Amino acid sequence: SLMITDECINCDVCEPECPNNAISQGEEIYQIDPDLCTQCVGHYDEPQCQQVCPVDCIPLDPSHQESEEQLHAKYLKISGKA
Ligand code: SF4
Ligand code: SF4
Repeated sequence: SLMITDECINCDVCEPECPNNAISQGEEIYQIDPDLCTQCVGHYDEPQCQQVCPVDCIPLDPSHQESEEQLHAKYLKISGKA
């Protein structure tokens, strides 16, 4: 999963780009649900939120590190294909 850091400026550009609806507005900044973020595996070659974020504040979440296989399995599960 990726994560949004406190450098987020609440611009709302990333949220509609997420194919998994993993991004939502939190109390202070936007947030990513690690159970829904596949790092865009299954949908796109690159994480779409990272592509559009103007302040580059969406790194890998060190507490949710996953292999390509795990991300693909998550994609299958949340898209109802598993
Ligand atoms: Fe959504 Fe992809 Fe960003 Fe994860 S990497 S939050 S799936 S847009
Ligand atoms: Fe925050 Fe970046 Fe998303 Fe804008 S695109 S809401 S700055 S994480």
